[in-house]
Amino acid sequence: MAARQPDRSWAAEPERGLVLAVLAPGADGADELAELEELARTALVEPVGRVVQHRRLPDARTYVGKGKLEELKQAYGEAGAEVLVVDDELSPPQQRALENALQARVVDRTQLILDIFAQHAVSAEGKLQVELAQLEYNLPRMRGMWQHLERLGGGTGGLGAGVGTRGPGESQLETDRRLARRRVTLLRERLRKLSRQRDVRRKERRRTETPTVALAGYTNAGKSTLLNALTDAGVSVRDRLFETLDPTTRGYEHEGRRYLVTDTVGFVRRLPHQLVEGFAATLEETLVADLVLHVVDGSAPEQRLIEQIAAVDSVLREIGAGELPVELVVNKIDAVDTLGRRRLANRYPDAPQISALTGEGLEELRARIAERFGDRFERVRLLLPYEEGRRLNELYALGAPIDEREDTPEGVLVVARLPRRELRRYAPYLVAEAAPERRRTGA
Ligand code: GDP
Ligand code: MG
Repeated sequence: MAARQPDRSWAAEPERGLVLAVLAPGADGADELAELEELARTALVEPVGRVVQHRRLPDARTYVGKGKLEELKQAYGEAGAEVLVVDDELSPPQQRALENALQARVVDRTQLILDIFAQHAVSAEGKLQVELAQLEYNLPRMRGMWQHLERLGGGTGGLGAGVGTRGPGESQLETDRRLARRRVTLLRERLRKLSRQRDVRRKERRRTETPTVALAGYTNAGKSTLLNALTDAGVSVRDRLFETLDPTTRGYEHEGRRYLVTDTVGFVRRLPHQLVEGFAATLEETLVADLVLHVVDGSAPEQRLIEQIAAVDSVLREIGAGELPVELVVNKIDAVDTLGRRRLANRYPDAPQISALTGEGLEELRARIAERFGDRFERVRLLLPYEEGRRLNELYALGAPIDEREDTPEGVLVVARLPRRELRRYAPYLVAEAAPERRRTGA
C-alpha cells in the first residue's frame, strides 16, 4: 500500500529460491538458466537449486507434468526454498496450481523482471513505465487474486514483501479492474507528456551541435563503467543486471571539444511484452545519438559473445536504430590473455579493445570518436573585425574549438573548427590559409 523505498531491498536478506524450467527436448538451456539465476540474484533471490523438465510444451494447467509435481515438491522442501522462480510467464491457473501444490509463493519470469525494473527505475518516466507494465500484467490476473492470496498465506502479512510483489503496482492489487484501467489511461497520458518534454530537450541538444554517443549492449558488458571512465560520472555500477534503467547522459571534453555520452539499460533475452514499450522508450535516447557504441564483454565465452552481439543488433534494428552508425567496442580486455586478444582482433578487426576498468585503450577510443565527428567540422581561419565583437562571442557560444587566437591590427584572427552548417554565416570573415602566415612573417 505504502510507496516503497527504492533501496529497501538492498538491505534485505536474499530469499532462497528454487529455479524451475520447462525446456524443449534435447535443449541444454545452460545459458538460459544462468541468465534466469542472474535475474533472480538481481531481485535478491539466491538460487538454491534447479528443477528442469524436458517436454515439448509446458502443461496448460500445472506448467510441469503432473507426475513431476511430486518431485518438485520434494526438491523444494529439501533445498529449504522460500520461493519458486519459474523461467516462463505463467498463466493464472498455472501459477495457482504451482502455489497450491507447493504451498509457496511462485514468481514467474515476467514478475521477476518487473520487480527488478521496479527496484531500479530512477526517473519519473521510468517509474511510470514500470507501474504501467505491472498493471498490464496484473489486470488479467485480478479476478480472484485476493481470495487466492488469503487462502495461501492466511492473510497477506507473510506474502506482502517478497520478490514479485514489490513496486508501484502492488497497491493496484486491491483495486478493481475499472480503477486499474482508468489508471492505465492516466499513465499513458503522462508518459506521452513526458515523451514530448524529452523531444524538446532533444531538440535543444541538437541546436548545440554537441556530438552524442550512446552506449548500447548486453547487460553487464560494462556500459556504466565505461560511461564513468569516459566522463567521471557517478552512475552506480554494480555487478547486477539492470543497474541502469534510465538513460543517463554525461559530458566529457576531448581536445577542446565537448561530447555527450548516454548510458542505456542493458539488453536481455525474451523481455516481457509488457515492458517492451517502456524499454524502447528508454532506448529512445539511443535513437537520437549520432553514434552508437555497442559495448561487448570481451572476456565472455566466444559463443555467448556471438549470441549477445546478435541479440543486441536485432533489438537495435527493432527500435529503428538500424541506420545509425554503430561501432563495436570490446571491453574487459584486461581479463583476456594475449591469445584471446588476438582471436578477438581476428574476429572483430575494427573494434577497439578497451578496459573501462583499467583505462586501457580509452584514449584511443576518445580519439576514434573524435575522428568519427571530424567531418562534421571544418577547420577555418577567420578575421573578425573588432567592431563585430559579437561574432567572436557567438563563436564561443557554438562550442566550436578555437585552436588559435591572435589580436591583429585588423581584428581578431582565429583558427577554429566550425560546424559545417555555420560556414555560410562566417563566410564574410574567411581568410586564406596562406595570408596570415605572410602577414606574420612580414610583420
Ligand atoms: P552494464 O550493465 O553494461 O552497465 O555493466 P557495468 O558497467 O555495470 O559493469 C558490470 C560489471 O563488469 C561490473 O562488475 C564492472 O566492474 C565489470 N567491468 C566493467 N568494465 C570492466 C572491465 O573493463 N574489466 C573488467 N575486468 N571488469 C569490468
Ligand atoms: Mg549499466
